Amino acid sequence: MSALLTVRGVTRSFYGVSALSGVDFEIGEGTLTGLIGPNGAGKSTLFNVVSGLFPPDGGRVSFAGEDITGRPPKRVVERGLVRTFQLARGFPKLSVFQHLMLYGPHQPGEHLWAALSRAATGRKREEELAERAFGIARRLKLDHVIDNAVTHLSGGQKKLLEIGRALMSEPRMILLDEPMAGVNPTLTGEIAAHLADLHRSGITICLIEHDMALIRQLCDPVIVMAEGRTLTEGTFAEVAADTRVQEAYLGRRH
Ligand code: ADP
Ligand code: MG
Repeated sequence: MSALLTVRGVTRSFYGVSALSGVDFEIGEGTLTGLIGPNGAGKSTLFNVVSGLFPPDGGRVSFAGEDITGRPPKRVVERGLVRTFQLARGFPKLSVFQHLMLYGPHQPGEHLWAALSRAATGRKREEELAERAFGIARRLKLDHVIDNAVTHLSGGQKKLLEIGRALMSEPRMILLDEPMAGVNPTLTGEIAAHLADLHRSGITICLIEHDMALIRQLCDPVIVMAEGRTLTEGTFAEVAADTRVQEAYLGRRH
């Protein structure tokens, strides 16, 4: 399996405190890879660096054979790599439909009002985007709330919308940062089913999740980070049996 995302020697510190101190791994195309590690291990920071939110202090990130180190988020998204956030961001007064339309492909950096009143750029493209937005809403079972304001969605629906937003850019790979956090068990199961479905449809996924039952159920391989580094990688059973991983979760008591 060829590597789609490669991270080599990535470092990053904040105000002199190291958050990433040499992260190395590859993610194979077509995998649903889990990224786990104790709180503060640097998982979210790594996603921020890979997706272009923060430049790294050192190291390299490449995607689909292209060096994307330090590129701004919209350039990274254009290449087909998109991330979701723990909390859906954006414009609460917009409807679900408008929110999805904002994140259609080929409008990097476009401003809100330009996007909403885009008369000049052609009705056909507008219609294609609308089709895509409806398709994604159906797929995520958000079609019955498509005209509702984002503010009026339940917490779980907001999580689904965040995945929908990522899908609007037609990604080749999605980085998901705790998409089930704070969601009830039924919806957690639904989100898990959506992720498995996206994976089957050919999208490469990297999932940060603290619920080990979900990681075991969904992910292969699993990458473990601790203290700003990659600790190990393997199947869930392999990493769970690794004493270094157990120690990292116990806060290295000896
Ligand atoms: P994880 O997602 O694995 O729990 P994080 O990536 O959130 O870990 O955090 C790793 C370390 O980096 C933590 O010590 C955290 O406080 C620090 N950190 C992350 N982002 C910032 C930031 N924007 N400013 C300062 N420190 C940060
Ligand atoms: Mg985090």
